[in-house]
Amino acid sequence: MQVNAVRLSEHVLQVAVPTPTLPPSYETNTYVIHHGSTALLVDAGSEDEAVLQELVDTLKAEGIERVTTLLATHYHRDHTQGLPFFQRAYHAPIHVHRLDQPAVIQQIGFNWDVKPIQSTYDVNGLTVHVDHHPGHTHGHVHIRIPADKVVLVGDHMTGDGSVWIGPPDGHMAPYFDALRAIEHSGCEIAGPGHGKALPNPAEAATALLKRRQQREQEIVQLIAQAPRTLQELVSLLYDGIVPDAALWVARKTVQAHLQHLLSGGAITRKYAAATGQFVYTRSPLSSPTGTV
Ligand SMILES: [Zn+2]
Repeated sequence: MQVNAVRLSEHVLQVAVPTPTLPPSYETNTYVIHHGSTALLVDAGSEDEAVLQELVDTLKAEGIERVTTLLATHYHRDHTQGLPFFQRAYHAPIHVHRLDQPAVIQQIGFNWDVKPIQSTYDVNGLTVHVDHHPGHTHGHVHIRIPADKVVLVGDHMTGDGSVWIGPPDGHMAPYFDALRAIEHSGCEIAGPGHGKALPNPAEAATALLKRRQQREQEIVQLIAQAPRTLQELVSLLYDGIVPDAALWVARKTVQAHLQHLLSGGAITRKYAAATGQFVYTRSPLSSPTGTV
């Protein structure tokens, strides 16, 4: 068996599926939300038919015979490339937020039945809510099962790596809002896209929020010391800390912070034609304490 199924709650099963994804993750979670023999399936990151068949067998062993809809938390390939297999297996439509719909079609091809996601689903009497929370991508969603106090958070939290938010898909301000929504969701279990479930979503969301806000403060302070380019900031923050192979992710995250700080007016930037780079400086009107 290559897939590993864990029951999170009465109606939610987490199945870790080996997937080519971003290190240090090597699995993407598929979630099965079911009531009796009827289910919704959330995310499918593998293209390996033998692995996907194991997932079908796992569902059968759980007594699940009917999958009515295939949901994707967002369009990224490591969450969607297995959905066509399940569409063939269960004759179920793929539902994704309309903002991520063109990108999903780009990932899996236009031969599949892909529709805009609904705000609620009724799984044999069990209510499932879909909340649009951009941040990681424009059409990223959280999927809530209030009866079980479970929220599936896609790539906004992780059980094993680190979350990355960066342009062109990612934006910090809505990501912060997404984390605040998790803080206030009343849920007791969060199911991330990668890694183990998180037993205290509110606490984990607060910690993530704090970490990102601290990082933003550090960036403001570095810029207050001297005008900086993106490259300088990435070197100052990550050299020797993050392996070279992961530096592009760090770079995107710094870009997302800079974008957030620019839109809030805490910093400004000028294009330096000589070097072909933007130089970031502290805004003259902003407070000297580094608050944003
Ligand atoms: Zn993703």
